[in-house]
Amino acid sequence: MQMSSDEIKALDSQYVMHTYGRFPVAIDHGEGARLYSPEGREYIDFTSGIGVSDLGYGYQPWVDAITAQAKKLGHASNLFYTEPCARLAETLCKRTGMSCVFFANGGGEANEGMIKLARKYSFDKYGKGRSTILTLNNSFHGRTITTLTATGQDVFHNYFFPFTEGFRYADADSLNSLRDAAGDDVCAVMVELVQGEGGVLPLDPKYVKALSEECRKHDWLLLVDEVQTGVGRTGSLFAFQQYGILPDVCSFAKGIAGGLPMSGIMANEKCRNVLGPGTHATTFGANPVCAAAGLVVQDTLTDAFLQQVREKGEYLRDQIEALRLPCFGKTRGLGLMVGIAVKDGYQNGAIAKKLLENGLLVLTAGPGMRLLPPLVVTREELDAGVAILKRTLAE
Ligand code: PLP
Repeated sequence: MQMSSDEIKALDSQYVMHTYGRFPVAIDHGEGARLYSPEGREYIDFTSGIGVSDLGYGYQPWVDAITAQAKKLGHASNLFYTEPCARLAETLCKRTGMSCVFFANGGGEANEGMIKLARKYSFDKYGKGRSTILTLNNSFHGRTITTLTATGQDVFHNYFFPFTEGFRYADADSLNSLRDAAGDDVCAVMVELVQGEGGVLPLDPKYVKALSEECRKHDWLLLVDEVQTGVGRTGSLFAFQQYGILPDVCSFAKGIAGGLPMSGIMANEKCRNVLGPGTHATTFGANPVCAAAGLVVQDTLTDAFLQQVREKGEYLRDQIEALRLPCFGKTRGLGLMVGIAVKDGYQNGAIAKKLLENGLLVLTAGPGMRLLPPLVVTREELDAGVAILKRTLAE
C-alpha cells in the first residue's frame, strides 16, 4: 500500500541521517514541470531537483531509452567498452570542441578529477612544487574534503580538518586580485562562470577572456566547473561557449543524464593524455543506462531548443520584475538559471517556505532566491509559477 507523506517523513527521520534541511514535503511523481505528493498535492517545480531534471518528469523518450538499456545491460564496469558511453563522449566533444571525456558520478567527484588532472599536468611538465590551484571567493565546488577546500567560502572550512593543501582564493572579476594570489607554485585556476550556490552571479565576460589569456601566459590550466551551468542550463550547451573561451578542462554533472546520477570532465587536446591508465578511475562511471539517458538529453538539446531556453529565461525574469514584489530586487542570471535579489528585511528561506505552501518550489542561493525550472518548462507552467509568486508575495 502507498505510504502517506507523514509516514514517509516519519520513517525517513528515523532511519536516514539528518544531513539535509529538507522541505516538509514528500514527492511521489511528476509530469512536465509539475510534481505531486503521495496525496496528489500539486507543485510547480522551479528547482528541477537542483538543476538535474532538465527534461522535466515523465519525458517519454527518456523513460523509453532507460527502460530499453536497462533490459539490455545495466552495468558492465570500465573494464569493458559500451556503446552508449562512447557515443555520449563523441557527442559532447563534437558539440564543444573538447577532445575527450572521463565519466564519473557526481559534481564533487568530477571536480576532484579536474584537480588531479591539473596537478599531474604540471608535475609531468615541471616536476614538484607547482600544485596550487586558485579558485574564486564565493565559489562552490563540492563537499569532498578537497572540493570543500576549493570552495571559496569560509563557512565551508569548518569541522573536517585537516583540509587538502594547495588552494588560494581571489575575488571574482578582478585580475589584480588573481595576480595577488598567484605565485610560482600555481598550476591552475578553477572557476564557475555563473556562481550558482553563491547567489547566481555571472562572471563578467571581459574578465573571463582576460583570465583565459592570463592562464595561457603562465601555462596555468583553466578549469571551468560547469556542474551547475552545463548541459543547456544557461541557454548554450555549456556556458563557456557563450563566454567565447575553450577551457583546458571542464566538469559537468547535474543535468547530463536528465535525472540519473552521472558526471564527468572533458579535456582539450593539450590535456587529453594527462590522465593515463591507472591514474584515475571510478567503478560506477560511464554507466550505460545513465549514458543512454544522456544521449536523449543531447538529442533534445538542439540549437533551437537552447534558443528557447534563453527566451524562456528572459520571459521569466521579465515577468518577475514586472510584478514589482516588495521583497524582491533585480533578477540576474543566464538562460534558465535565474537569481533574484532579496531586499533587506526579508529572509530567502522564509520566502521559499511560503511559496511552497502555495504550491511553488524554489531554491535559495547565497542571500537571494534561485530558480532552476526544468529546461522543457512551458510558458503555461512559467505563468502558473509567476501567478503563485504574485499571490504569495504581493504584500
Ligand atoms: N560544483 C558546482 C558548481 C555545484 O553547483 C555543485 C553542487 O551544487 C557541485 C560542484 C557539487 O556537485 P555534487 O553535489 O553533485 O557533488
